[in-house]
Amino acid sequence: MAKHGFTTNILHGDRRLSVEHGAVHKPIHTSSQYAYPDSRELAAVFQGKPGYTYARQGTPTTDALEKKITVMEDGVASLTFATGMGALAALFTTLLKAGDHLISSQFIFGNTNSLFGTLELLGIELTLVDPTDITAVAAAVRPNTRMVFTETIANPGTQIADLEAIGALCAERGLVYVVDNTLTSPWLFRPKTVGATFVMNSLSKHIGGHAHALGGSLTDTGLFDWTKYPNILDVYKKGAASGWGLTQIKKKGLRDMGATLSADAAHRIAVGAETLSLRLSKICTNAQALALFLSKHPGVSRVAYPGLASHPQHARAQKLFKGGFGNLIAFELAEGIDSFDFLNHLEVVILATHVGDTRSLALPAAQTIYYEMGPALRAQMGIGEGLIRLSVGIEDEADLLADFAQAFDKCQK
Ligand SMILES: *Cc1c(COP(=O)(O)O)cnc(C)c1O
Repeated sequence: MAKHGFTTNILHGDRRLSVEHGAVHKPIHTSSQYAYPDSRELAAVFQGKPGYTYARQGTPTTDALEKKITVMEDGVASLTFATGMGALAALFTTLLKAGDHLISSQFIFGNTNSLFGTLELLGIELTLVDPTDITAVAAAVRPNTRMVFTETIANPGTQIADLEAIGALCAERGLVYVVDNTLTSPWLFRPKTVGATFVMNSLSKHIGGHAHALGGSLTDTGLFDWTKYPNILDVYKKGAASGWGLTQIKKKGLRDMGATLSADAAHRIAVGAETLSLRLSKICTNAQALALFLSKHPGVSRVAYPGLASHPQHARAQKLFKGGFGNLIAFELAEGIDSFDFLNHLEVVILATHVGDTRSLALPAAQTIYYEMGPALRAQMGIGEGLIRLSVGIEDEADLLADFAQAFDKCQK
């Protein structure tokens, strides 16, 4: 299947798995349980033979989506979850235990940060570091460090971690390297190329792409040697060692915790994924134009977009990411323009949370998704009180530029 290009593989993935009646989509399998005519066969599936038992552990529909994501990420296997947070919670709680140490980027999605607070209550030690600086990451490593986590383009500040150097550090120190690829998606970047152990994607964002289904995934790149990892339970040390980690996440995280992706959502996400490359190419062109417009506008005091030469990690983004710099723009308005008034004047851009939709979305970040954190933590994460987070969509470029221009005009009157 992988012999063709990125989009061809997504489009033809299902029918190549010989779907019944020549259907080109994997059907939405709604059955909760899967029956076997032979009780020995049923037992064999429970004992690890590929097959389906109870839909909490997956269905043929989620399986078809997982296979597509595995090809997109060039991994060896993937698991899907009800949401991106479901995927992250399953990963951290099943591969870490009390007394272990986790290093994470300090520039992360707010709910991931909140999840880390829960991990700390469970006895897992956490150090937040600036991931753009490899010396800070290396200095945080302790004897009990097990894992390093970072996003590719940080939500919402757009900082870009030193993904290659962190990968080299993790390989050298035997650490599990988890990369949240949500804002780049496998179309712009494949974390396997920098040595990631697991790639997480919020399927609710670019991969699904239409804001009509939630989902999350974890892809195992096959690069980690699990024989050296202390937290794998004996019962999961079966078969090739490269698969032990994902097996433990599947059993302990998906089966036992139950954040299972529904077949209906899996189908919608799979259909959305067919146009990932087209959408993201248009999103990147629109975002570049809008970032340039904002960077020159007197009503803007600061704009962060990895595609601008002024972005501190512009060169890194250019080297790592293929053909674009993503959907996310973070900007602050000049003195005297109220960010709430400005947002209220936008007519095309929707005031809503969420990113990676076909529609452009904006919100005041500090007072919404980062509100619960308080000002001290916001400052540490680089989120200014006037920061506007904009997720650019696929609208006509001229309409987006005109919408911002008219909103500025109204604010200056
Ligand atoms: C949205 C998001 C998540 C969580 O995904 P959900 O599907 O909404 O649970 C995790 N990481 C990043 C970077 C995100 O943008």
